[in-house]
Amino acid sequence: MHFIDLESQYNYLKEKIDARIHNVLDHGKYIMGPEVFELEEKLADYVGVKHAITCANGTDALTLAMMVLDVKKGDAVFCPTFTFFATAETIAFANATPIFVDSDEATFNICPKDLEVQINKVISEGKLKPKAIISVDLFGLPANYPELEVIAKKYDLKLIEDAAQGFGGSINGKMAGSFGDIATTSFFPAKPLGCYGDGGAIFTNNDDYAALLRSYCVHGKGEDKYDNVRIGMNSRLDTIQAAVLLEKLAEFPIELVNRNKVAEKYEKELSNKFITPQIPEGYTSSWAQYTVCSQKDRELDMLDYQRQGIPTMVYYRTCMHQQTAFHYLGYKEGDYPIAEKLSSKVFSLPMHGYFNYLNDDA
Ligand SMILES: *Cc1c(COP(=O)(O)O)cnc(C)c1O
Repeated sequence: MHFIDLESQYNYLKEKIDARIHNVLDHGKYIMGPEVFELEEKLADYVGVKHAITCANGTDALTLAMMVLDVKKGDAVFCPTFTFFATAETIAFANATPIFVDSDEATFNICPKDLEVQINKVISEGKLKPKAIISVDLFGLPANYPELEVIAKKYDLKLIEDAAQGFGGSINGKMAGSFGDIATTSFFPAKPLGCYGDGGAIFTNNDDYAALLRSYCVHGKGEDKYDNVRIGMNSRLDTIQAAVLLEKLAEFPIELVNRNKVAEKYEKELSNKFITPQIPEGYTSSWAQYTVCSQKDRELDMLDYQRQGIPTMVYYRTCMHQQTAFHYLGYKEGDYPIAEKLSSKVFSLPMHGYFNYLNDDA
């Protein structure tokens, strides 16, 4: 059994994907080819935003967001401690200071209450300028944007949605990727919408941000490609990856339905054994991971599955405040009790849209 079955997905979409790739090989526009712009239009449509700008990966997408929002030394940027490293890394990479926030136990996402506590701590210490929040749609579930948007407004902070895992999720019909000032996603192969290599995208309704992003991701280009008006980076999505994504995006809504069927099945079978993920009223998840909390010993529970030939994974064993690279920030064990508990109890089960039995059930 596969943890994520990219093989079945490819076999199912093979003719379409192969044709798309061959088309790129025929026209030869490997960088910034027509597929890139076709994809950007379709992504913007799907997410329901004005601008989708593709780039090289989800980490660059966050870094580009930091550049556009002018995040710099002396700034405090708040993010959950229970997340993938890249979320916090890009804050430090921008020379700003990451301020970690505890999790909401039921959703695994950033806790709005603790966020406000951390913001007030930074304000009262008076050393750093509170600048922005990066919230993460962990395991596919959008963070609590109704509350996060109120807090961002109250403290005049920019809000960035890290939808690397959340792409496809929604709150009351509003899609992940459309929350906050800027949202980012990743097309790493294992994400809900993945390509066959690295890829990423940035979403915004702000025309000025979009223009800046298009410049920053191509060496800070001006009107003329060889007139560079700012320091940028080289972060583009390859045309071949855009071609793959066009076919995968077309299939994505159906895959989401299947992923939700898998989640329902898990819920039925496992809710008396583990603490299963609960989706708040009005929310949908793209189920980047199906993550449960062990009631007893996680390692034993995982061993049980291993014996049955079912792969499991742990996302994440180490919170950001426990990472070696962030020791300099001076956090200690016990600083974020909920996140620490989650990191010691969670594990994830296979999740994708291509389980065989699904067709039989439908
Ligand atoms: C995967 C991921 C990223 C980074 O995406 P890459 O494309 O691998 O650079 C950022 N944030 C979160 C929450 C992720 O899961």
